[in-house]
Amino acid sequence: MKYAIAIHGGAGTILRSTMTAEQEAKYNQSLRNIIQEGIVILQKGGTALDAVTAATVALENCTLFNAGKGSVFNHEGKQEMDASIMDGFIVDAGAVTGVKLVKNPILLARKVMEGSEHLLLSGSGAEAFARLHHLDFETEEYFYDAFRYEQYLSALKTDTVQLDHTAGDGKKFGTVGAVAIDVNGHLAAATSTGGLTNKKFGRIGDSPIIGAGTYANDKTCAISCTGVGELFIRESVAFQIHILMQDAGYSLKDACRLVVKDRLVKINGEGGLIAVDKDYNIELCFNSEGMYRAAANQDGVSVAIYE
Ligand code: ASP
Repeated sequence: MKYAIAIHGGAGTILRSTMTAEQEAKYNQSLRNIIQEGIVILQKGGTALDAVTAATVALENCTLFNAGKGSVFNHEGKQEMDASIMDGFIVDAGAVTGVKLVKNPILLARKVMEGSEHLLLSGSGAEAFARLHHLDFETEEYFYDAFRYEQYLSALKTDTVQLDHTAGDGKKFGTVGAVAIDVNGHLAAATSTGGLTNKKFGRIGDSPIIGAGTYANDKTCAISCTGVGELFIRESVAFQIHILMQDAGYSLKDACRLVVKDRLVKINGEGGLIAVDKDYNIELCFNSEGMYRAAANQDGVSVAIYE
């Protein structure tokens, strides 16, 4: 029985030298536990869509990562979240942007795909749709994280818009995501984020944009990105990889390398992505120092942080 799944918890300047052994162990263990949520579904013959949903919910519920609980704060000191999901079997997607207090934005994105005639809902409209469908909301206390609040205060002081960063001076993108292929050869991708610390004016990155931060199509691959959203949108990163494979005969590996290590680098588009293809290959590709990531198939699980 063949399956493949990968998850990420953000990419960036994640250096061994700025991480304690204890922190490192915490990240590794969390990634290992979280990918398991997807693996059990795939092992039972469940769908890739259910596997990426379950893994992303677990990532959102973990405060180590910038999505759901523990999201970064915007300029007004609020947590505004974006998420998207795509089912490669039906080549359809759902996405939400700028939502507040929705416990699991990825479940809302999925509801948009399955229970509405639309693809992308924003702000208070998306929240009303969530209420209509009885999705869980949480309090500000639930989402609050002291470390993220410190980041926000320091960003306010310097009046900068910051990518989620480590306690040191390293930059880190904290978006989360999952991609999978199930036993029936169907693909799915999901991405969820709090975006950037101190973001203003309703700024939206690549994570809820289908074709930029997320894409899945059974003909080729499933992709979830993390990095400087503006540049990932400009390059249509996820869709570009699909097109390179579909129309130019690229392998998953070559397509990911071209886009992440060459095209993005040329425009200073720091970050990375996780990908699986229709032949059960997995790629974990990034141009930054590190990316929190885990991958698994029928042969086992691997977890890594650094290059
Ligand atoms: N891509 C996300 C955004 O631009 C940031 C991240 O990956 O952390 O909102």
